[in-house]
Amino acid sequence: MDTKILLAESDMPTHWYNVVADMPTPPSPPLGPDGQPVDPAMLSAIFPEAIIQQEISSERWIEIPKPVREALYLWRPSPLYRAHRLEKKLGTPAKIYYKNESISPAGSHKPNTAIPQAYYNKQAGIKRLTTETGAGQWGCSLSLAGQIFGLDVRVYMVKVSYEQKPYRRSMMKTWGAEVFASPTNMTEAGRNVLAKDPDSPGSLGIAISEAVEEAAGREDTNYSLGSVLNHVLLHQTIIGEEAKKQLAMVGDYPDTVFAPCGGGSNFGGIAFPFFADKAAGKAIELVAVEPTSCPTLTKGTYAYDYGDVAGLTPIMKMYTLGHDFMPPGIHAGGLRYHGDSPLVSQLHHEGLISAVAIPQLETFQAGVLFAQSEGIVPAPESTHAIAATIREAKRCIDTGENKTLLFNLSGHGHFDMTAYDRFFDGSLEDFEYPEEAIKASLAHLPNIG
Ligand SMILES: *Cc1c(COP(=O)(O)O)cnc(C)c1O
Repeated sequence: MDTKILLAESDMPTHWYNVVADMPTPPSPPLGPDGQPVDPAMLSAIFPEAIIQQEISSERWIEIPKPVREALYLWRPSPLYRAHRLEKKLGTPAKIYYKNESISPAGSHKPNTAIPQAYYNKQAGIKRLTTETGAGQWGCSLSLAGQIFGLDVRVYMVKVSYEQKPYRRSMMKTWGAEVFASPTNMTEAGRNVLAKDPDSPGSLGIAISEAVEEAAGREDTNYSLGSVLNHVLLHQTIIGEEAKKQLAMVGDYPDTVFAPCGGGSNFGGIAFPFFADKAAGKAIELVAVEPTSCPTLTKGTYAYDYGDVAGLTPIMKMYTLGHDFMPPGIHAGGLRYHGDSPLVSQLHHEGLISAVAIPQLETFQAGVLFAQSEGIVPAPESTHAIAATIREAKRCIDTGENKTLLFNLSGHGHFDMTAYDRFFDGSLEDFEYPEEAIKASLAHLPNIG
């Protein structure tokens, strides 16, 4: 059997799948500061109309505009791999497949949404986009998309990552973007944080506040978010739709689907198209994998909370560790968000998907094993899905089950080699579940029912 299962460009999906159409209960609406549902018009200070409509849509299929499809052809459809060598190395009777999203120009799944977001903003007459980035994958993706559609991009990059990953900065600049270490003194939100803690390492929540503040204050500027929101997960469903077609080409179907979960976009992207089958009665397990140091789905509270530290965003019902939770400086920077997608959160709350948390050292062991069998050096985020898949594949050795496992290889680790170096020299550690910090942060949830 082939190693790579490939789709022709003409077989790339023409529509995104909206999971809301198949959810048993409608999503809880985002609320404003008064505790009332946000009027979508209020969002127009920072988002174009087309994106707002997608955010609140319950239509099952939404067409991918032609200029967006043409830009996605730069790397899509992405290959589905059968992990023959990893299976052999493990000696498992399980069949392991992975969707390789690392082949995009930015090296992760994130351009799948950056491209349509830049397109819709350009169509709406917007000239500039602001955004935040943690490890830098999202900042790179939006910089690329801004370059493709002729928009200026300004990136607030979490300071600890800005210092750890200089080459991601260089990539953003290569695609024409401006990059600043957040917190900056350019925004009210940034100045407030620096006044309390001049050495703040920054966090995604702070960087979001800075980017939203700037976009809300300028006519020509909108804001763009790389995860969490409904429209972002919508744009990522092209991953799972392609995977379904590719598995059908080899007459297979997964028992379990794994993806790393930070804000939930690549998990939703690969899992939601399979959820459509689950909603129709098919037996399939969908597993979101997170770090034990930032255990949003497995240890968080399902409640209304802000998306950012300053409390500028609408409050959303989601699993959260509290909006001012500062996760430990683990290397899977893309998994350090305090909240999670409201869609993923609701499905988890209703028991329709599952979640597991894995410690950092086990994820790097899995990443090294993967690199030594399949060749690709995975992103630290992606190693979470690999580790969970390996756990299940090993369980299959004990039980003799020949399950079919699918995971999302959300990105490669070429800019994260410092993290691998730390792992090899033994200085990488597991962080305990930061119970006290989470408890303190959860005490600051917005005070509504
Ligand atoms: C950002 C990122 C993630 C986590 O973000 P999600 O929105 O949960 O997908 C995972 N893997 C990679 C490679 C990333 O860049």
